[in-house]
Amino acid sequence: MNPFSYTRAADVATAVREVAADGAAKFIAGGTNLIDLMKENVERPARLIDINRLPLAEIQPRDDGGLRLGALVTNTDVAYHEQVERRYPLVSKAILAGASAQLRNMATVGGNLMQRTRCCYFYDTATPCNKREPGTGCSAITGFNKNHAILGTSEHCIATHPSDLCVALAALEAVVRVTGPGGERTIPFADFHRLPGDTPHLDTNLRTDEIITAVDLPPNGFAEHYAYLKLRERTSYAFALVSVAAALEMDSDTIKEARLALGGVAHKPWREQQAEALLHGQSASRDNFRRAAEALLHGARGFGHNDFKIELAKRAVVRALGQAAASEGHL
Ligand code: SF4
Repeated sequence: MNPFSYTRAADVATAVREVAADGAAKFIAGGTNLIDLMKENVERPARLIDINRLPLAEIQPRDDGGLRLGALVTNTDVAYHEQVERRYPLVSKAILAGASAQLRNMATVGGNLMQRTRCCYFYDTATPCNKREPGTGCSAITGFNKNHAILGTSEHCIATHPSDLCVALAALEAVVRVTGPGGERTIPFADFHRLPGDTPHLDTNLRTDEIITAVDLPPNGFAEHYAYLKLRERTSYAFALVSVAAALEMDSDTIKEARLALGGVAHKPWREQQAEALLHGQSASRDNFRRAAEALLHGARGFGHNDFKIELAKRAVVRALGQAAASEGHL
């Protein structure tokens, strides 16, 4: 591990000022991803700015009827919060599908958004990786790519985003609140994470001098008809091969509104509103679910070891929509 200095920020303005003044500085909160990356020599910050004492660890109701999750609320506290469990069970379920109890006790909302890919080549500094060292190449495209992306890939990177929480937040159309030297701004969740393109080293549209302060959940949590389905190689403590966040508004057997987001298949949670629109006004039937799944995966491409993900994702979408329609998301 490289030597680094450590400071602790007492308020948001100080944290922003300090990170803006040092391009080699990084924020640290729960540290569940950053410390691993530092131990592996993948991340080499010259300075850590500890933000654990910032006043961002509250969950608060919003004037519009939604809920604000402070950036420093732990994943455990979000998952078991009474309002989240009752009004946004998709969020609870997605969080509890991820990591381990110990990690969820440390990991934060903001950190969850900022976590980096688990591509094995990204972690292996002996191999080329455009995300770790831009311009060196991508070892995964012709290498072992079973866990890699099938949607939104580029010739420069086929990594996936590892979060479960973010898949639920994408489906719910959450909004990310950030603060930088110029003040506060909001980023729609769909615009927060990036596709790799020719800049795979950039995971998000957060500027280097900005800090996430909160994530806002809209008033509609789709609490009646939802499902988070995560398919992985073992039933706990594993990243998704494919995950699906499905949320429906139903009028008897007719779908009024549908939200679908996929995890484990792209550099960001994957949503296609055209696929969702195919379900609007339709009955909750297997044939209609399959049509939406085909549309959601229409541009999918495998790289050899991960070809199976294309059909797996389609079947997962059909199953998740069936669970959501039947109000089985809580099972
Ligand atoms: Fe690096 Fe992305 Fe290729 Fe993985 S998929 S080796 S993270 S460039």
